[in-house]
Amino acid sequence: MAKTMQAAVVTAFGQPLMLQELAIPTPGPGQILVKTEACGVCHTDLHAAKGDWPVKPNPPFIPGHEAIGIVVALGAGVTAVKEGDRVGVPWLYSACGHCEHCLSAWETVCGEAKFGGYTQNGGFADYLLADPDYVAHIPAGLSAFEAAPLICAGITTYKGLKETQARPGEWMAISGCGGLGHMAIQYAKAMGLKVAGIDIDEGKLAHATRLGADLVINARTHDPAEMLNKQTSGGAHGVLITAPSLGAFKQGVAMTRKRGTCVLVGLPPGEFPVPLFDVVAKCITVRGSFVGTRQDMVECLAFAADGKVKADVELQPLAAINTVFHRLERGDVPSRVVLDFSDVVETAKSARSAALVDA
Ligand code: NAD
Ligand code: ZN
Ligand code: ZN
Repeated sequence: MAKTMQAAVVTAFGQPLMLQELAIPTPGPGQILVKTEACGVCHTDLHAAKGDWPVKPNPPFIPGHEAIGIVVALGAGVTAVKEGDRVGVPWLYSACGHCEHCLSAWETVCGEAKFGGYTQNGGFADYLLADPDYVAHIPAGLSAFEAAPLICAGITTYKGLKETQARPGEWMAISGCGGLGHMAIQYAKAMGLKVAGIDIDEGKLAHATRLGADLVINARTHDPAEMLNKQTSGGAHGVLITAPSLGAFKQGVAMTRKRGTCVLVGLPPGEFPVPLFDVVAKCITVRGSFVGTRQDMVECLAFAADGKVKADVELQPLAAINTVFHRLERGDVPSRVVLDFSDVVETAKSARSAALVDA
């Protein structure tokens, strides 16, 4: 096995990532080494690289929390996975396993949780370490490229939709139809909900319609709450806000039907005003939701394995990461970019065969 790997590293907040040749890490006791096949690029990676949030990672670090790869080495004592397994290394990299939240299967809010591509080096690299108790087990039949967006965009929206407690036949408004949103629309349709997609980009809205949205609203040209409330006779029973824009949050609360639930998952830095009278008088629930648990992961992957949802991916090489970040920031990524690491293997193979032909 090679001793070094390529990685895209955040060396300082707000600076372009640096492509570096680093030593391949060695798994310690209880850890595994994963050879990356694919890694999705989430808007969270952009927030991480810019140091957007109050709790910050410590540069230098390697982002990426939608990494799918093959287990290639086991540290001492590992039994939960074996070499050759295909796993995903998600945002919830590990948790303590014994606090009140872990004991009640809410490991996502464990105070000792570690985060992939944030507090731990992530998947923008040829190899990464992982905790075998917290990796996703990728069902046979799903390619690494299809699976990558599911382990953050998929699980987060699947969980967020459940947290709205909307029932089949009811309206779900999904604000932001990008990486997270294009998965949310599909999960919501698979759950039997009526879907309104809201975005500020006509291309995203056209795609939302192709994915089954019953109604789409351009929030740049229309007041989405006014339009939605009219079309649904009173607003959506569930609202899921994925847009990384503060304006979308106030609109989301205004789109929520009486006694409905507005779930916040987008994480632009800052605060948004909540109209207290409306929330109180309409008995609206406003609820945060953070990725999903290991059980949510099993469930959200099963939807994909059963063919009910499918991530739309655009493959790019690791070397394109800064361009991908610029496009993501401008809203120019149609659904999800997935970094493709198979060329590393392919290049090595073709270099070997070229050498054989030459010889
Ligand atoms: P993305 O860039 O792929 O998609 C964002 C979409 O929102 C784009 O289609 C964009 O056009 C649209 N948008 C922008 N402003 C809008 C507005 N005012 N109204 C409606 N739509 C608008 O990003 P993504 O990867 O889907 O991530 C979205 C957000 O979710 C980020 O802030 C990210 O950090 C956060 N996130 C949260 C969790 C969690 O666990 N809560 C998990 C993953 C990502
Ligand atoms: Zn993410
Ligand atoms: Zn815990």
